[in-house]
Amino acid sequence: MMRPWGLLGAWVATLYASSPSLAWNATGHRIIAAIAYERLNPGTRAQVDLLLKHHPDYATLLTRDSPPDPEARARAAFLAASVWPDHIKGDRRFYDDTRKDATPTPLLPGFPDMARHTNWHYYDIPYAPDGAQTEKQPPPNALSELRRLLRETGTSPRDAYDLPWLIHLAGDVHQPLHCTSRFLKSQPKGDAGGNGVIVAPGGNLHFFWDSAAGSDGSDAYIIRFAAEVTHEYPVPRRLSKDPKKWIEEGFEIDKREVYSFGLESGSREHPIELSQAYQANAKRLARERIALAGYRLAAVLNEKLKRSVKVILHGQQP
Ligand SMILES: [Zn+2]
Repeated sequence: MMRPWGLLGAWVATLYASSPSLAWNATGHRIIAAIAYERLNPGTRAQVDLLLKHHPDYATLLTRDSPPDPEARARAAFLAASVWPDHIKGDRRFYDDTRKDATPTPLLPGFPDMARHTNWHYYDIPYAPDGAQTEKQPPPNALSELRRLLRETGTSPRDAYDLPWLIHLAGDVHQPLHCTSRFLKSQPKGDAGGNGVIVAPGGNLHFFWDSAAGSDGSDAYIIRFAAEVTHEYPVPRRLSKDPKKWIEEGFEIDKREVYSFGLESGSREHPIELSQAYQANAKRLARERIALAGYRLAAVLNEKLKRSVKVILHGQQP
C-alpha cells in the first residue's frame, strides 16, 4: 500500500502507479478470509452473515458477481469484505483523511464516516539497524484500530461497518512489512514498510511481499491455496488473540528474514536483486503467515460473535 511519506514516496508511487500495491493483494486477503470462514462456528457464521447483510455496500461491492445460492453468497460476501478497505482507497465516495487539506465527501446512509483511513492498515515499529533516528507511528494505526475493533465487536452499532475492517486488518498485520519501518542514516524518514526499498523482482520490497501468495483471484486458486497451507501449517496448540503479539512477530520476521539483504535500499538503476533462496523463503513464510492469520481471525470472531448480535444500522433505528 502507498503511504504519504515525502518525495521519495511520491517518486516510487509514480513509478508503480500502474501496479498499486494494496497490502497482501486481494488474493492474499481472500485466502485468509476463506481459511477463517471455514472455521467459524455455525452460530458465529450466522452472526457474521447477518452483519454483512447490513453493510451499506452489501448489495453492491460485497455481492457483485456472487452466486445466487444463499450459502455460497454469504461466503462470497465475507471474502469480498476482506478487500473492502483496500477497495475504498480508489472509491470516489470516500476521501483521504490523512491529507492535511482533506475535504470530507458527503456522508452516505449506513456509514459512520466516509474516510479512507489509509493509516489503519499498518503499525510500523521503527527498526534502526545502523543507529539512525526513528519516529514512532502515532494512532490511529493497525494496532490501535485492531484493539478497538476487538473491544467493540459484538456490542457496537458500528458492527456491520467494522466487520470488513476487522477481517482486513487481521490479515494485513500478518504481512510482515505491515509491522516495520526501517530507518537508515541514508533513509532518515524510514522506508514505509519497504515501499522505499527498490528490489528486483517486484519493484519495491513491500509490493514483493504483498504478492507473495500469487495474484490469481479465482475461487479455484483460493480454495486450493487455503487447503494446501492449512495442511502444511496446522492450527497451533495456542492461538494468540492479541494483535500486539501478531505485530511483534512480524517485526521479528522483518529483522531476521525480510531485511536479510543488508543495509541497502536499492535504486531504480540498481535494484536489490532478491536471490532465488530469498524468493523461495518469502513464499514459504507468506504461506505460513496466511494460514496463521486465517486461524487467528476465526478464533477472535468465534469469541466475539458467539451470542446474537443486535444489528443496528448506523444512523437508523433498529
Ligand atoms: Zn490493507
